[in-house]
Amino acid sequence: MNYKRIFTKISHELEDLEDIGNVASYIPELGNINPNKFGVHLTTVKNSNFNFGDSNEKFSIQSISKVLSLILAFKLEDENLWNRVGVEPSGNPFNTLVLLEHNNGIPRNPLINAGALVICDILVSRLQDPKKELLEFVRNISGNPNLNYCPRIAESEKMMGYRNSALINLMKDLGNIKNHINTVLDVYFNLCSIEITCKELSRAFLFLANYGTDPITNQKILSTSKSKRINAIMQLCGFYDEAGEFSFKVGLPGKSGVGGGIVAIHPGKYCIAVWSPKLNSKGNSYKGMKFLELFTTKTKSSIF
Ligand code: GLN
Repeated sequence: MNYKRIFTKISHELEDLEDIGNVASYIPELGNINPNKFGVHLTTVKNSNFNFGDSNEKFSIQSISKVLSLILAFKLEDENLWNRVGVEPSGNPFNTLVLLEHNNGIPRNPLINAGALVICDILVSRLQDPKKELLEFVRNISGNPNLNYCPRIAESEKMMGYRNSALINLMKDLGNIKNHINTVLDVYFNLCSIEITCKELSRAFLFLANYGTDPITNQKILSTSKSKRINAIMQLCGFYDEAGEFSFKVGLPGKSGVGGGIVAIHPGKYCIAVWSPKLNSKGNSYKGMKFLELFTTKTKSSIF
C-alpha cells in the first residue's frame, strides 16, 4: 500500500478544513509552539516507513507517555496492579477530580492523570532511579539513545500544576499514594515532558502492533497477553471522554497528549503517529483526529 500518496491526498483535503482547535496554554511552555505544525509517520511491522510534513520535529509527548509508564508498572506488578487502578473508561476529562472521591482514591484507569500518578507512585516504590529507568526504556524502544526530558516544560508544568497536586493530595489522603507527593509529581512532570518525533513515536509503540515483540530487533518487550491488554486499555481509555468518538470514527487503539500528538496501532499491521498542536475541547489534537479518521476510512484499516 502506498501510504505516502494517501498522506498527501488527505493533507490536501484537510487544507480546506478550518483548524478550530487551540494550543494547550495551561502549561505555559506549550503555548509557545507554532500551531501550524503538522507531521505524520507510519511504521509497518515489516519496517516500511512512510512520512509527511514535520515528522522529524520533536514535540512534547505529554499524556502519550502514560502508556509507557503503565507498561513498566505492569511488568513489575502483574495482576496486582489492578488493586490500585481500574480499567474502565472515565467518561470524564483527563484531569477530573470528581470520580476519585466516589471510588475511594482508586482512579478509573491508568491513562487519566489520577491513574498515571498512581502508576508513577508504583514506579517510585519499585525502581531504584525511576526517572533514569523510564528514560532508558523509552530510549530503547524508540531506537533513539539521545531522547530526553525537557526540564523547561517539566518546570513550566510544575509551576502551574495545581490540579495534579489536588489529585495526588486527595489520593494520598485516601491511602492510594505511598511515597512523598513531591517525589511522585517530579517523576510525573518529567515523564510528560519527554520530547519525541512522529518517527520515533511510531517506532516506540511498534511492539504493541506486533503482540509485544519489537518486529525490528526481535526483542520481547511485553508478553502477548499484556500487550493485548495495553491495547484494550488504549481503545477504551486513550482519549478520555472522547474515547468512544475515536473508536467510532478512527477504529484503532491509540493515545493522545496535550502536546498535540496521537499514536495509534493496527495489530499485525502498523503503528502511526500524528502531530498537530491545536486541540479540541476534549484536549485531543483536532486535525490529528480528522487525519486518522480519513486515513482508516481510505485504507479500510479500522480494526472493526
Ligand atoms: N502533563 C499534562 C497534565 O498533567 C498531560 C495531560 C494530557 O496530555 N492530556 O495535565
